Amino acid sequence: TMCAQRYSSTWPTKSYVNGEWYDAKSGKTFDVINPATGKIIATVPDLDASDVQVAINSANDAFKTWKKTTAKERSDLLRNWYNILVKNKEYLADVVTSEAGKPLPESLGEVAYGNSFVEWFSEEARRTYGEYVPSPIKTKEILMIRQPLGPVGLITPWNFPIAMITRKAGAALAAGCTCVIKPAENTPITALVLAKFAEEAGIPKGVINIVTASRENTPEVGKLLCESPDIYGISFTGSTEVGKLLYKQCSSTVKRVGLELGGNAPFIVFNEADIDKAVAGAMASKFRNCGQTCVSANRFIIQKKVFAEFVDKLKTAMSKLVIGNGKDGSVNMGPLINLAQVEKVERIINDAKNKGANIITGGKRALSVGERFYEPTLITNVTEDMACYIEEIFGPVAVCIEFDTEEEGLKIANSTNRGLAGYFYSRDISQIWRVSKELEVGMVGVNEGIISSTEAAFGGIKESGLGREGSHHGMDEYTEIKYICFGNI
Ligand code: ADP
Repeated sequence: TMCAQRYSSTWPTKSYVNGEWYDAKSGKTFDVINPATGKIIATVPDLDASDVQVAINSANDAFKTWKKTTAKERSDLLRNWYNILVKNKEYLADVVTSEAGKPLPESLGEVAYGNSFVEWFSEEARRTYGEYVPSPIKTKEILMIRQPLGPVGLITPWNFPIAMITRKAGAALAAGCTCVIKPAENTPITALVLAKFAEEAGIPKGVINIVTASRENTPEVGKLLCESPDIYGISFTGSTEVGKLLYKQCSSTVKRVGLELGGNAPFIVFNEADIDKAVAGAMASKFRNCGQTCVSANRFIIQKKVFAEFVDKLKTAMSKLVIGNGKDGSVNMGPLINLAQVEKVERIINDAKNKGANIITGGKRALSVGERFYEPTLITNVTEDMACYIEEIFGPVAVCIEFDTEEEGLKIANSTNRGLAGYFYSRDISQIWRVSKELEVGMVGVNEGIISSTEAAFGGIKESGLGREGSHHGMDEYTEIKYICFGNI
């Protein structure tokens, strides 16, 4: 469209280091692709470890002065950044849809969510209180203050190209840290646009650095960020495999590590549920971003008495999804991010088919729409040896499993080494308490399919991660407690 062309000519397409637009020393670049069309929409620098060292140095120089700013000064700058982001929300949403493929209304939703972290942490910046603790000894006084970690490395995924950056960078900057951000190779433009607006907001050079790198260069860049003695914390959102690698790499310097990794969210519907509300929640949780969110319902675990009704109503709701290019008005489900993701979903479905699952609807690519599109798929007759039961699908596939007793339902829900989000629907208040406490996850949705909020702590247990983001706890990831003892009073 005219609008998109006007926007794309204004996209920054170089890395951002020390307040300058930066090309790789090697001169290498990589392409960014619109997943809806398969077309190249931009070319950005492919940085290697030597380039990223320049960014680390810049974050270190900037930290010397940034750490001395007052909380109020940092708050004001974050507020300026937030105001500019809000003013440009349509522009930002267009970038997100262009490189991540999600429908425009969803992109606008992400922009609002992403921006809210900048606003929230502009407020939290002023509340990094210390503590005065009564001492047991008359001649001593005990104080504890909170200080920024230092320069941090932030490695982010493509499924929420804005929010996964602002949730980390907002907290880091508020705490007084500077950062080197490595955005996902699929969605670097959004990150660069955020940097452009941060610069406009007056955030000093070197406080935010954005290093773009291809999939090929990413491992060396990640290794340097983890192993550099000049980086004091790593915050990562992405796959469990990469998260474990980064955790290992961070051990040599004993850095602070924050990890938001994959989930395998159970979505339990009990006999006592309001089935229509459960179906609406299921649709929102499963098909938002084409199933590519780490809190997406991965397994629908449905009690016997309501199984048939739930599956039937879910099928009807799914038939109303409109697949296509996210920039087309009526579309409410976009493509998968890339062919690797399409192939993964195909592998999971074929495995289920081979092992005897029933494909109620879907089950193949939507090739008439485009190469990266997959039909909304509903599967029953699922057994615990199937990949769709064990793995995080990250696609528009609803897997329905039947159970009998509450105990059995919980056992299925908890039978995974992941523990990010979990959802259940019931109107029995005692059951609601019991199940909320028994679910082995970091976040629970009770009669609700969409739970993320800036004000609430986001994070997982088991192999789904370490630490919490957002909420006032989000500041803890970027601060150290220093104990100061006054003696001989
Ligand atoms: P996905 O497979 O969904 O792309 P990843 O965990 O691979 O999820 O990607 C999340 C982020 O981690 C991206 O920014 C990606 O570039 C980055 N990443 C991938 N591999 C590595 C690695 N070896 N070291 C550091 N970062 C990595």
